[in-house]
Amino acid sequence: MAKIFCVANQKGGVGKTTTTVNLAAGLAKIGQRVLMIDLDPQGNATMGSGVDKRKLEHTIYDVLLESATVAQTRVKSEKLIKAGCSYDIVGANRELTGAEVELVTLERREKRLKQALVAVDQDYDFILIDCPPSLSMLTLNGLCCANGVIVPMQCEYFALEGLTDLVNTIKQVHANLNKDLVIIGLLRVMFDPRITLQQQVSEQLTAHFGGKVFNTVIPRNVRLAEAPSYGLPGVVFDPSSKGAQAFVLFAQELAARVWAK
Ligand code: ATP
Ligand code: MG
Repeated sequence: MAKIFCVANQKGGVGKTTTTVNLAAGLAKIGQRVLMIDLDPQGNATMGSGVDKRKLEHTIYDVLLESATVAQTRVKSEKLIKAGCSYDIVGANRELTGAEVELVTLERREKRLKQALVAVDQDYDFILIDCPPSLSMLTLNGLCCANGVIVPMQCEYFALEGLTDLVNTIKQVHANLNKDLVIIGLLRVMFDPRITLQQQVSEQLTAHFGGKVFNTVIPRNVRLAEAPSYGLPGVVFDPSSKGAQAFVLFAQELAARVWAK
């Protein structure tokens, strides 16, 4: 059975998509079968995996509205295949914005993704879901089907404040909709050890959340920021960069945590 993880944080621009695509590539690199689902109308994870979001026959929108199955929707990226580091992709584009409204009147609206994934569960070791920067119906669909949430965060003052809302939402989903859901861990991203405040927040995080904080820290690294414009995860774009190496280590740490259970 595939392990299903949401990469979520309702704060914008904290590194969710960068984490999703690089973790997908890192897991593929260590031999795991991975499906990456883009649940954000921005479609950044789709483009960042080398798939043109404007040219997709089907997207996650069709899956949520049950007009296509995951098997009909998933695609591969030529660039990733060439690099020998491939994962399957269920893409998204602006069309997905409409799903939010259309789902409201439908039955089982928060369980659509969960049901759609049953049919492909056996095909993968990991299913990773890139969530939008909101606690919306889309994110709720992600949380309802996931075994756990990976929370990327920058070590800044307001980061901790935002975390309370996310933790409360996860608690509510756990209590009412998905008993499996847990926070797998908090991932410190875009970390700059020269900044004292970041060190302090990082220490507060580990003091407060202990073992829930991943050991791996993702540094601020320009190669990770450049990679999307080439339609590649940093892990594939420049494997020797510090950022790419950190994400491969993170993939190993996550896999080890999962296998230890
Ligand atoms: P949104 O909330 O809009 O979906 P997000 O949480 O998915 O955003 P990203 O798109 O992953 O965040 O990252 C925001 C910006 O920061 C991007 O330009 C990305 O390239 C850059 N970035 C992410 N991680 C790093 C890093 N470790 N080092 C340098 N730049 C980074
Ligand atoms: Mg994003």
